[in-house]
Amino acid sequence: MRYYPVFLDLKDRDVVFSGAGSAAEAKIRLLLKTPARIAVYGENPSPALRQWAGEGRITLAERAIDWDDVSNARLVYGANGDRELDRRAVELGRWAGALTNIVDNLEESEFLTPAIVDRDPVTVAIGTEGTAPVLARRIKASVETLLPQSTGPLARIAEKFRPAVAELSSKARRTLWGRFFDRDGALAFEAGGKAAATDALQRLMAADDGEKPAGSVCLVGAGPGDPELLTLKARKRLDEADVVLYDHLVAPQVLELARREAKLVSVGKKGFARSWAQADIEAEMIAQARKGRHVVRLKGGDPAIFGRLGEEIEALAAAGIAYEVVPGITAAAAAAAAAGQSLTKRGHNSAIRFMTGHDTQGFAEQDWAGLARPGAAAAIYMGAKAAPFIAGRLLMHGASRAMPVTIVVNASRPGQQIIRSDLGRLPAAIGAAEGQGPALLLLGLAPAAGAVGGLTQAEQTEIHLRSGAA
Ligand code: SAH
Repeated sequence: MRYYPVFLDLKDRDVVFSGAGSAAEAKIRLLLKTPARIAVYGENPSPALRQWAGEGRITLAERAIDWDDVSNARLVYGANGDRELDRRAVELGRWAGALTNIVDNLEESEFLTPAIVDRDPVTVAIGTEGTAPVLARRIKASVETLLPQSTGPLARIAEKFRPAVAELSSKARRTLWGRFFDRDGALAFEAGGKAAATDALQRLMAADDGEKPAGSVCLVGAGPGDPELLTLKARKRLDEADVVLYDHLVAPQVLELARREAKLVSVGKKGFARSWAQADIEAEMIAQARKGRHVVRLKGGDPAIFGRLGEEIEALAAAGIAYEVVPGITAAAAAAAAAGQSLTKRGHNSAIRFMTGHDTQGFAEQDWAGLARPGAAAAIYMGAKAAPFIAGRLLMHGASRAMPVTIVVNASRPGQQIIRSDLGRLPAAIGAAEGQGPALLLLGLAPAAGAVGGLTQAEQTEIHLRSGAA
């Protein structure tokens, strides 16, 4: 480690720039976040610098830098892009006892500016000693996703409560701050800002005196299967969960992202495991939340699409349990992406229906006449078994046998299969999909234009079954 990181206090200090072009502008953009007095000397200032000067955020003099300009400087930058002018700035800076930097010239600089993740007052500085700026940017991007926007405000709240919390035992303190920063504080901040987060901290402090902290339920969309198709928020909630109640459609790779200590409960309605009635699922969610647990109710795809979200929300509201819904990528979106088709297309279909092939009564009756019209399109969930019935109804209502149908099995999962066919051949085509995994039917979409990226040929099967005329 040749460069030793320190954080410099710039309150009431001068930062002086020689050079008023884009190099200075880039550095100043960051420095404007500090309380430093920023002074810029140079000809032909950039428009942004002029604007900041006009707003009184920096001082700008369109002349060369001089001895008097640096006398109170903590940092002096040479940003002229001109060797002689920059060296002169460094000479002045050193004389004044400031730290000096020539922009983009490591060898002649005493310090370098790191890549920064700003969650004021929390700052993460990333440096590669000039070896790999691209790497620094990549690390910055991953740290950005790791640190929610609430990090800064939570740190400020913690600062205020530190004296009060200091009276707890050191173990209680660690537990309390862990819960506050990782979960209760962050969740409360998202829901209700600073005031809510402050309340959450006060509740945690009270809980340490014996009162139980409040639990919560988060209804999370697990997406179609590929863990990379989870939202960042879904990942976060999984990472915070005490209990995860998941459906059979949730892919095992997604479950692996749950917190190591979390209790995983399959409430799916498939296989030999105990099958849960909807009322039992709701009762379990509520019971766990009442014990103060953070419950994640994990559903395949998007929870609001054929996921019984409405019933679960009603049950939670009736029980007075705080809940949150995190949307997910629904199977129709994943299937269209896999097939390289658009769910809507200008001049082809300006609407699409999300329908189910099955309801509690068996095969679902739909507006077949509407769907049989040219230009109609639909994504059909739970439609594999009902496929011959659906085809029959549509043909009966005058749909064309050539209406394009794409069946996507295991969209975004291992064993993804795409069957391109048409309405006339739908009953035969669905046979090829039987028993392979969840299948989604896309009816009436504009055909794919060409090769589809993502999976290699070996990972996905593609079958074409057509009635003839396209
Ligand atoms: N809430 C889910 C849908 C639940 S209904 C969502 O938004 O995706 C279950 C049906 O969804 C399955 O019968 C199947 O039609 C469809 N489905 C779910 N995941 C799928 C996948 N990975 N590939 C294809 N179809 C899928």
